[in-house]
Amino acid sequence: MGSNIEEKPGLLTRDKQQVWHPFTPLIGSEDNVVIERAIGAKLFTSDGREIIDAIASWWVNLHGHSNPHIAQAIANQAKKLEHVMFAGFTHEPAIQLAENLLSILPENQGKVFFSDNGSTSVEVALKMALQYWHNQDKSKTKILALEGGYHGDTFGAMSVGERGAFTAPFWPFLFEVEFLRVPFPGQEENGVKEFEALIDRGDVAAFIFEPVIQGAAGMRQYSASWLDQLISIAHSSEVLCIADEVMTGFGRTGKTFASDYLVNKADIICLSKGLTGGALALGATSCSNEIQEAYNHEDILKTFFHGHSYTANPIACAAANASFELLMTDECNRNIQRISSGFKNFKTKIESHPKVQSASYLGAILTIEFKTSGDTSYINEARHELYPYFLSKNVLLRPLGNIVYIIPPYVISDQELKVVYGAIEDYLDSGIEI
Ligand SMILES: *Cc1c(COP(=O)(O)O)cnc(C)c1O
Repeated sequence: MGSNIEEKPGLLTRDKQQVWHPFTPLIGSEDNVVIERAIGAKLFTSDGREIIDAIASWWVNLHGHSNPHIAQAIANQAKKLEHVMFAGFTHEPAIQLAENLLSILPENQGKVFFSDNGSTSVEVALKMALQYWHNQDKSKTKILALEGGYHGDTFGAMSVGERGAFTAPFWPFLFEVEFLRVPFPGQEENGVKEFEALIDRGDVAAFIFEPVIQGAAGMRQYSASWLDQLISIAHSSEVLCIADEVMTGFGRTGKTFASDYLVNKADIICLSKGLTGGALALGATSCSNEIQEAYNHEDILKTFFHGHSYTANPIACAAANASFELLMTDECNRNIQRISSGFKNFKTKIESHPKVQSASYLGAILTIEFKTSGDTSYINEARHELYPYFLSKNVLLRPLGNIVYIIPPYVISDQELKVVYGAIEDYLDSGIEI
């Protein structure tokens, strides 16, 4: 050590030289922050700062960073079986995970298909639904989706998501989808008629939605009973329903799944993000036995020909099983309740502040819309003011336009939450205009 005459340049310089980061403009962005280690809700930078991760690292982390129980499960599995292809082979971590998931998913779910991330869990769901009809020689090929939806960044997932500025370069290549406006409170009747009219065409294969709360749209809540009505109509008209629970799964909304707020259950459910507690990439798409039945055929061409090299990676499955064990504890449940009641109090405290347009919470998700003179889309310039403002206070909040939300790891302490609330209140009293 230290004997090299030529010192390597710093990490940030090397990062700039060869790494390309997601969702990051190349000009005008702040320098990336080098994180050396993380524990619980805290990120530790290479230059000695401690940053509170108030958004669970893009909504994935449940039980804290570097969680010892999950880390142990990963280490044990890596030494035993790191990976084996999942066609023609199987293993205990995947079988156990499927059983664990089915024990907490809505009762109509019967099978689990693994993939790598949220986008692929959605691709699998869409293909599963389309081929379900194809295998039965029914010409149902249209997908219905909700305006403002976000389902991932691959082509199928982009197709069923909001056609916003981020996907504009790809619009010519996205397949045609019918979008339904999510109604404002009190206007639910209009949406239902529109939905019925779209479905009456007879060619709709599936309806995909983020149940009860749309994440990337700005953590926007909408009526569960409205969605229930749509699912009921879909089911009486032979339209499959796909619940994208990639963000809402695993306790985030105060129930195990957002689908638990509904009476009528989706046929297919997409999971990722919190699935491994935030430790490793893994996706899962569950479906009812009836969906799989359409593939149960001697004709080999009715097989679901879809898979990824790392489908059901044993290490990722072991992490997910460890995360599941933590999710099932009373302590985890208490933490979610504790965060939720803290959010309720904070919402009440700030909602009448002159700079707050609206505030709401659901389970462990708190949403605050700031008043702005700019537009209210994703690319509202507010983000460029707010993100560095909070980071300078050692709080990681990544606003969607003028909407700031807190989605913390469930282990975040009340003391840490106080710091996050304090940063938001500082902004509100700062005189900064967005
Ligand atoms: C994040 C997200 C996705 C995409 O997941 P990735 O793992 O980022 O591909 C899909 N659907 C919803 C609702 C999401 O929040």
